[in-house]
Amino acid sequence: MVSGPARETRTIRRAVVTGGAGFLGSHLCEQLLERGVEVVCLDNFLTGSPENVLHLMEHPGFRLVRCDVTDYVHVPGPVDLVLHFASPASPIDYLKMPIETLKVGSLGTLHTLGLAHDKGARYVLASTSEVYGDPLQHPQTEEYWGNVNPVGPRGVYDEAKRFSEAMTTAYRTSKGTDTGIVRIFNTYGPRMRADDGRAIPAFVNQALEGRPLTVAGDGSQTRSICYVDDTVAGILAMAFSAHTGPVNIGNPDELSMLRLAEWIVELTGSGSPIDYIDLPVDDPKVRRPDTTRAEQLLGWRPRVPSEEGLRRTVDWFAAQRQTARVQAV
Ligand code: NAD
Repeated sequence: MVSGPARETRTIRRAVVTGGAGFLGSHLCEQLLERGVEVVCLDNFLTGSPENVLHLMEHPGFRLVRCDVTDYVHVPGPVDLVLHFASPASPIDYLKMPIETLKVGSLGTLHTLGLAHDKGARYVLASTSEVYGDPLQHPQTEEYWGNVNPVGPRGVYDEAKRFSEAMTTAYRTSKGTDTGIVRIFNTYGPRMRADDGRAIPAFVNQALEGRPLTVAGDGSQTRSICYVDDTVAGILAMAFSAHTGPVNIGNPDELSMLRLAEWIVELTGSGSPIDYIDLPVDDPKVRRPDTTRAEQLLGWRPRVPSEEGLRRTVDWFAAQRQTARVQAV
């Protein structure tokens, strides 16, 4: 690992973002364009949508290409950076599409690493806190090897990401490819799908509709939630650095699912009650990143307080619902 704080000395003129029409990918495309980087966005719209990047279509530096990265990846011209973000990411999606999830983590990673290697580009893999599974170490540092059930329902996602980390490391050690790995913790914000099954969009939409908020188990299980602008800033700090990682990117503010639900009821001004439902199989009981490495190497730490991020997210979902209502009239 290269030590010392990140300096943005790298010149990146053209980037490829796989999964660029998804939640995180669309924010990455936007931020790269703002930094003057041309973007080629590759997506097969499995869980994302062209709508997420509609506002970028007129930008002269942006190109959207429909492409399944598990088939093969071909991008003509120079490429300085490859961000591999294609993958179903919410439990509802990967439980419905287990083979697609394993394929994009294995074949997709292989093909995108091949692209980065051939072009002499920097490569950043979107890994996840799920590589820690149901953690026996708390908070989770990058040294922790994880506690994953490979044959449990979540294994398809967790093991795909663990495999993609191993493949990324092998390209670096055996071929000299310039790779970095970010382990992203729960991120939320505008452009999440209301029905993607993740807690924040589910709670916000239940609250906005005045329906009961469905909290799994007794709600004492914890997550650490990071606002999307902070996560994207951390990923780009990694992309523009020479660090190999893995580096945790997340917000160490930890809260219980019940507290989160109560907070969203308050922020929406909803009178929704809380309903308790069964806990999913192998659901992690605790989750909190140790972000010391990101702070030391990248000079990065999350800046948006959870209350502010949640308020922006509630406002965005409320505006989406308003637009949908107007269009329906
Ligand atoms: P998302 O579902 O919104 O976006 C994923 C995108 O990948 C979608 O646009 C989808 O259509 C595309 N895709 C899937 N398979 C593809 C394929 N074979 N070829 C081309 N495109 C394909 O999910 P997200 O939340 O934006 O997550 C993006 C990445 O970040 C994922 O790799 C995910 O594992 C990782 N991640 C996200 C979070 C989070 O909290 N959002 C946390 C940890 C890791």
